[in-house]
Amino acid sequence: MTGTPNAPLFILSFRQRDELASLAAGAGWQVVAARRAGGAERRFLSSGAAVAVIDARGAPADGVNAARTMSGAVEANGGALLALVSRGEAATIAALYGAGATHFLASPFSEAEFLQAVRFAARHAERMAREWAAGPVFAPLGWRYDLISRTLILTPGLAALLAIDDEPSVRAMLRRLDRGDRIAAVAALRRVSANRPATAFAHDSDLTTVGRVVQHLQLDAEGGRIDAVVEPLGSAPEPAAELRESLAGARDAGSARRWLTRRLADEAGAPLHAMLIALNRFDMVNTAYGRATGDALLSSAQKRIDDVVRDMLGRDALIVRLSGSTFLVAARSIRLRIDLVVERIAHALARPFVTGDSIAVLGCRIGLAEALPDDSAASLLRRVSEALADARESDTATMRVADAEQGDAPIDQLAVELNHALERGEIGVLYQPQVSVSTGAIVGVEALARWEHGVLGTIGAETLFAAAARADLEIGLSDHIQRVVLAQAAAWPVALAGLRLSLNLTAADIARPGFADLFLDRVDASGFPRTRLTLEITESGLIEDLGIASALLSVLRGAGCRIAIDDFGTGYSSLAYLKALPLDYLKIDKKLAQDITGSARDRIVVRGVIDMARSLGLTVIAEGVETQPQLEALAAEGCQIYQGFLCAEPISVEALEALVAR
Ligand code: C2E
Ligand code: CA
Ligand code: CA
Repeated sequence: MTGTPNAPLFILSFRQRDELASLAAGAGWQVVAARRAGGAERRFLSSGAAVAVIDARGAPADGVNAARTMSGAVEANGGALLALVSRGEAATIAALYGAGATHFLASPFSEAEFLQAVRFAARHAERMAREWAAGPVFAPLGWRYDLISRTLILTPGLAALLAIDDEPSVRAMLRRLDRGDRIAAVAALRRVSANRPATAFAHDSDLTTVGRVVQHLQLDAEGGRIDAVVEPLGSAPEPAAELRESLAGARDAGSARRWLTRRLADEAGAPLHAMLIALNRFDMVNTAYGRATGDALLSSAQKRIDDVVRDMLGRDALIVRLSGSTFLVAARSIRLRIDLVVERIAHALARPFVTGDSIAVLGCRIGLAEALPDDSAASLLRRVSEALADARESDTATMRVADAEQGDAPIDQLAVELNHALERGEIGVLYQPQVSVSTGAIVGVEALARWEHGVLGTIGAETLFAAAARADLEIGLSDHIQRVVLAQAAAWPVALAGLRLSLNLTAADIARPGFADLFLDRVDASGFPRTRLTLEITESGLIEDLGIASALLSVLRGAGCRIAIDDFGTGYSSLAYLKALPLDYLKIDKKLAQDITGSARDRIVVRGVIDMARSLGLTVIAEGVETQPQLEALAAEGCQIYQGFLCAEPISVEALEALVAR
């Protein structure tokens, strides 16, 4: 993996190659370093690195040229290109971006900052690889084999597709193919190695949404290298959702079975689980609203499932739409995490679907089975189907587990543990930067809660709050987080003294009698200035009683805090709120912010929201900005502040300090 020590890292530095190389090597990177631009692209490719560092300090023109030469190779490998520049050379930064750099770090910087920047870049690269795995149709899929050094490099997209994350080798790649396909592949490799300049072969792909692919092989002019481009069949210009639609069905079931067979054969790791998710009442939607609405709804449902699965189980999970409105998900994981996934999927699918002018409430039934030692794909699928049938027959249960007593829901288990977790200090906070669109400066942060669970690792805020609701600990949790955040922020180093701090308030907070006084006392006791606080509220937090909420917010605002309305643009956003409430900021929900690079219609919606917010004098913050094109489009529409992985994920105070220092 790219983000972990021992991964390769490529560094091109005209003047300080050895210093940078030893610094990175000291942090565990396998460094391949160059001092000259000539041949750098080739060396980068054969290094297998996902991140290239180009040190343009004191040599801006050479740096830009090198970035231009290498960016194609970097991009094709889903990588990141980190440019080091001298502070003040703003023109160089723009030129470097233009030439394809994805990240930059301005000097002077400390060793720690350099390593941090490399890690950020590596995480960016990992994320790109994950994105490709999730939406693989347009990902560059390909590989390059050096016949002389016998090294193979896969694009991250292809590595994800073939589930190869250790040393890639031709043999490992061939092993991923069915026997018949393997014979065709070997023949094609022979042809091209025997100096035939180009050939191709087709095979079935494990990649659930792609089906069959063609591999185009090409021998380079010197005969020393084979380049392959992997092309999903019939995928060309269709939007991903439609493609997924057209490919759903029998072919996916086939590749799912192969996926399961392969995973069952390999016993290493956590137990393999399979779940079948069936949407309730879907036929009714099809009948009532027509096929087009039904199809749109299915792709939103799949998107919701994808989001949960990628978030909780990573990229090595199988997600397939089977026939009709049933989805298959399979992954290796400990049981408790799987249970949480089931619960989150059930929750995600219970939310209403908005399609055009209509709103449909569906919900789902889920069957779950864990693989037994002698299971085949067929027997596992049979048991999970039986579990689904049981769930369907039940009046109350959303979920059934094959061959198991129905135990406590996982969220209930977590709820039981939450009290201790609070006492043990396992609930902490990360900070996500909010960045000025016009200056690029970090102007504030949002505090986001995390649970460092002993067994499950980090648990995200949504699951944490769901557990708190189950345990009736919402207020206790809120109190705890507010105390932790305020105490930390009051002790922030001077470097962070200019930042605003955003805190999320829950519906329970707002409904609490006397909350304003209690909260303001708490703020004052911490020593953090009220005037640097922003309170984020969601509409669901307000819906209970708009009058009370509005009065509460007025008090807080009158006391110096600012107020943001969160997640705007999802669900039933109401314009009435905007007028009725004392607000300073409007936060555009991440889904809407990300849609801006989608259809023209999406863009018009975003434009409308931004225009309206600005005409009400609100500052617009876009959330979930992950890519430069999204940021550019949002900036063009007049969005003033953004937040999202493009700048940083939620990070620790130390990491934040390092980031702000740049
Ligand atoms: P939110 O307030 O909308 O917070 C933003 C969420 O988006 C965070 O999820 C953040 O990690 C995620 N995010 C940020 N940038 C990106 C991006 O570029 N792409 C994507 N896909 N996601 C991004 P998180 O931390 O899991 O929090 C989820 C929700 O839980 C928050 O949504 C908020 O409603 C609630 N929450 C989190 N921490 C607290 C807290 O301390 N108190 C309260 N009351 N609620 C909290
Ligand atoms: Ca928020
Ligand atoms: Ca939000």
